[in-house]
Amino acid sequence: MSEFCVEFRQVSQFFGRQCVFKQLDLQLPQQQVTALVGPSGCGKSTLLQMINGLIWPQAGEVRVLGVPLDWQRLSEQRRTMGYAVQHIGLFPHWTVRHNICVMAILEGWSSERQAARLDKLLDFMQLDAALLERYPHQISGGQAQRVGLCRAMFLDPPLLLLDEAFSAVDPITKVDVHARFQAIQAEEPRSVVLVTHDMQEALKLADWLVALAPGAVLQQGTPAQIQAQPAHPQVARLLEAR
Ligand code: ADP
Ligand code: MG
Repeated sequence: MSEFCVEFRQVSQFFGRQCVFKQLDLQLPQQQVTALVGPSGCGKSTLLQMINGLIWPQAGEVRVLGVPLDWQRLSEQRRTMGYAVQHIGLFPHWTVRHNICVMAILEGWSSERQAARLDKLLDFMQLDAALLERYPHQISGGQAQRVGLCRAMFLDPPLLLLDEAFSAVDPITKVDVHARFQAIQAEEPRSVVLVTHDMQEALKLADWLVALAPGAVLQQGTPAQIQAQPAHPQVARLLEAR
C-alpha cells in the first residue's frame, strides 16, 4: 500500500486557455483527513474531479491508493472512492433511501445488510428514518447534504472525497455533524480529502492541511504548524478570515 492516498505528479489542467494547474506536484497522506483550503475559484473542486477521473488532466499523472488512474479500470477504481459533490447531486426522481442505497443495490447487498448500514449512518448524521421515503425536494438543504454524505460513505470506501460537504448545514447542526464525522472517522478510519473554503472547519477536522491559491500550493502541514507559522501572507489572510 502506498503511503499516499492521492498523488498528483506534474499535473497540468487547462480549461480552454485558462491554466488552473501547471505541473502540480502534491501528495496527500493515507488514512488521514486532508483539508484543501483556499478561496473560491482556486481549483479545489477541479482537484477532486481529477481524483475521481471526471476530469482528465492534459499532462501528468494522478495516482489513487498507489495506482495511476487508468481509463480501462476507472469504474473499478471509482468504487474505492466515496464522493460527495459540491452541489449535492441527489437524483430528484429517486427517494432518499434509493439515493443512499443505489451503489449497494448494484453491488448486490441484501436488504438486511442495507438496513443495518442505513441505521448506522442515519444515526451518525442525525437524520430521521422518516426522511427515507421522501424525495430530495421534500427535505432541507442541510438534510440533503447529510444524505449526500451517507451516500458517499455507504460502501465504506477507503477514500472519501468531500466537496464543501458541510457548507449547507446550519451552524448549530454543523457543530454536531462535525463531531459525528470525527466519531465515524475514529470508528472507520479512512483517507479523506475534504475541500472547504472555511479555515475554521479545516483546522478543526483535518490532520493535514493544504492551503491553495489559484494554481498554487502555498503551504502544507499540520493545522498546528500552519497556525504557528503561516509561510505566506495569503495563508495568514486565510487564517484571519475565520
Ligand atoms: P473552487 O472549487 O476552488 O472554487 P474550481 O475548481 O471549481 O474552484 O474552479 C477553478 C477554476 O477553473 C475557476 O476559474 C473555474 O471557473 C474554472 N473551471 C472549473 N471547471 C470548469 C469547466 N468545466 N470549464 C471551464 N472552466 C472551469
Ligand atoms: Mg468548488
